[in-house]
Amino acid sequence: MRLLLLPGDGIGPEISAAAAHVLQALDRRLGLGIKLETREVGFTTLRRDGTTFPPSVLEAAREAAGIIVGPVSTLEYPPPAEGGINVSAALRKELDLYANIRPARSRPGLPHYGRTSMDLVIVRENTEGFYAVRTMFQGHGEFMPAPDLAFAIRKISASASRRIALAAFALAERRRRKVTAVHKANVLRTSDGLFLREVRKAAKEFPAISYDEQLVDSMAALLIRDAARFDTVVATNLFGDILSDEASELSGSLGLGAAINAGDEHCMAQAQHGSAPDIAGKDLANPVSLIVSAAMLLDWLGRHYGQEKFAHAARLIERAVDALLEHPNTRTRDLGGPLGTASFTAALERELDRRVTEPA
Ligand code: NAD
Repeated sequence: MRLLLLPGDGIGPEISAAAAHVLQALDRRLGLGIKLETREVGFTTLRRDGTTFPPSVLEAAREAAGIIVGPVSTLEYPPPAEGGINVSAALRKELDLYANIRPARSRPGLPHYGRTSMDLVIVRENTEGFYAVRTMFQGHGEFMPAPDLAFAIRKISASASRRIALAAFALAERRRRKVTAVHKANVLRTSDGLFLREVRKAAKEFPAISYDEQLVDSMAALLIRDAARFDTVVATNLFGDILSDEASELSGSLGLGAAINAGDEHCMAQAQHGSAPDIAGKDLANPVSLIVSAAMLLDWLGRHYGQEKFAHAARLIERAVDALLEHPNTRTRDLGGPLGTASFTAALERELDRRVTEPA
């Protein structure tokens, strides 16, 4: 099982090293057969090769069973014509990773900021919406006809809406069997109307799953007031992006938010947060987000290749992370604990060691 690791910028190399450490430790103990290949992207290759995303990395990604990408400093990149390519956006587009799956779960003992605890997953459409680099065959989805006038095109298609809806219902079947569609069809009648039409069609194909809808603005409030009522939430690209950050933060911290970008053939694990240049190289980064994203990738690989031991490894990571976060003295600094990136990773490895003989 060849996995491609792209450390990225800022804190990317530190948290990628932590994720690699955990995967290799589990590989040794469970015999997963993982072969981890690390390739540079971001500022390192911009300086060396003139691009943040060398074409050979895309080829390696196509051939890998799974990808783990660290955060990249896209805001600081030069324009694409000067080599500043958004690595994660390019991989999402080139590998057709249409489903961005972002769980938010409050963890035992760790304070959460919503009024209720939560255990939900936001299934975010990943290929169109308002994301200008993803909406056009040629040209760009944002343009400026005059110096003081700008337009952004929002693309919603029936096919992309249908496949993200099907992904959400399939996921809900393995969870608490409830799907909520988030929209703004009271204003965006045509585009969100089309999105809802396709989600409602999918809902009819899954009669055992309960289905409801929320306007995006009330959803933002309900996440704070009563997130416990949600299970699987399906949303268009921008709404899903914003709501998933909100949900992760409310569940305890954005630094814990896991994510995979999944297509039919490829899957990429990616932390929800950015490259945090303010704390890069200081051993201050919380590696949990990327580590639990890697666990989600293992779970996806287990299902895709029919290998239960990968799903078992994913559950072990989740439980071991829960066990560490439960106690203030085994948390990282961003959560008020005393541990740095390296000491948290070492504590996690010890916790995994204790649990590796647990029944699957
Ligand atoms: P950020 O998420 O990098 O940082 C926001 C704040 O959270 C900072 O104070 C940072 O120190 C803290 N933080 C983030 N991750 C943390 C972690 N793991 N542990 C402890 N603290 C953490 O957001 P930003 O500052 O707005 O963006 C920085 C760069 O990241 C920009 O170039 C942006 O474009 C990029 N970015 C990349 C991705 C991605 O690659 N997926 C996502 C978002 C932002």
